[in-house]
Amino acid sequence: MLPRILEIIYEVNARFLLQVAVEWPGDAEKQTALSLIEEGQEPQVRMAHLAIVGSYSVNGVAALHTKLLKAGLFKHFYQLWPDKFNNKTNGVTPRRWLSHCNTSLADLISSKIGKNWVADFGDIGRLSQFAAEEAFQKKWRDSKKVNKVALSDFVEQATGVKFDVNMMFDVQVKRIHEYKRQLLNILHVIGLYDRIRKGDTAEITPRCVLFGGKAAPGYVMAKDIIKLINNVADTINLDSKVSQFLKVAFIPNYNVSAMEIICPATDLSEQVSTAGKEASGTGNMKFMMNGALTIGTLDGANIEIRDAVKAENFFLFGAQAEEIPDILEHYHPNNIIANSEVLSAVMSLLESGHFNLFEPNIFDSIINTIRDPNDMWLTAYDFDSYFQAQRSVDKAYKDQALWTKMSILNTAASGVFSSDHTIRQYRDEIWKL
Ligand SMILES: *Cc1c(COP(=O)(O)O)cnc(C)c1O
Repeated sequence: MLPRILEIIYEVNARFLLQVAVEWPGDAEKQTALSLIEEGQEPQVRMAHLAIVGSYSVNGVAALHTKLLKAGLFKHFYQLWPDKFNNKTNGVTPRRWLSHCNTSLADLISSKIGKNWVADFGDIGRLSQFAAEEAFQKKWRDSKKVNKVALSDFVEQATGVKFDVNMMFDVQVKRIHEYKRQLLNILHVIGLYDRIRKGDTAEITPRCVLFGGKAAPGYVMAKDIIKLINNVADTINLDSKVSQFLKVAFIPNYNVSAMEIICPATDLSEQVSTAGKEASGTGNMKFMMNGALTIGTLDGANIEIRDAVKAENFFLFGAQAEEIPDILEHYHPNNIIANSEVLSAVMSLLESGHFNLFEPNIFDSIINTIRDPNDMWLTAYDFDSYFQAQRSVDKAYKDQALWTKMSILNTAASGVFSSDHTIRQYRDEIWKL
């Protein structure tokens, strides 16, 4: 359809492969590996290769992502043009994601450190000196409460589920994808439900768990996961003995307007992707700015969030990116499940059809992926570590002075995640304006 465009791509490729030949004389394998054209039955243009060849500068969107691109996917391009590659960690604008969407917190912050932070978000760090101040902490909690009332109204309107603002608000909103592991989160919810039903409630902190996110139309597994979340939510919300400890809702039509109500009201931000798979994430930054604490893996910008706020103010769990190839080589999820008391109980509930009594077998493919030795998302592998980290969350939340201090420190440390900071780096290091 575009013969002239194809002709130009071939010409770009010819000149590029000449450079490859100069760098690696007589290396036919490199020519095939780097070519802009993938040969085969139906040759394809490699769009990413074309982009790198055509670009003055190529950046990853978080430090880990940049490192993985340079060492993995684009290794040879990096050898050819090391100066072309650099990192620019993503950011979000504090005008929309704090000042506009969270006026109660914005006013409180301005009352303490003045208004300059709106234009110069580096100033937000000055909040940290007040993190342990009792009167300020009380106002911080009052602001969060106001936002939780607004979100609980929004959730009730959209789903009919009534969230109790005295419970912890535990939120995962993002596109539905296996690597983002909404499945791991709902398995934790099932684990909690099982404990509560057995009367083991002494150490449980009551929570309202909110999910939201769209699935690509053809992504069957993603839609199965949404269905599972909704079925688990129905079972839990109808059980009057459980609902004082646990409520679950899936909010339809997640979008930016919804996020403007959701992130100001969130206590716990779920950033639980399989390590190495989330390029950066920006939802994690919006939540942090609004004083949510993060439970997360060492992935994408989570790593930089944890560095900025310090390890003791972040709930870390899970396998690390560089361990995963080895783990996958000897991965036996069935053994992991058999050796985990909680995960066995969760799988028994799922496999007994407890959440799909009148819809037999609809969750079979989900059950099969958890038990699959080729499950590259490592759901079973990370479950126990995640469950444990959630118990640290429970414990921290019970100490409201501690939690509030951690919350203030999260907002105070979010300065580098302003998009102003990111764009300043583009200006200085790429565009050189
Ligand atoms: C911020 C945002 C995202 C990105 O969220 P991640 O958790 O980084 O994937 C997606 N959708 C909407 C509507 C958002 O506001």
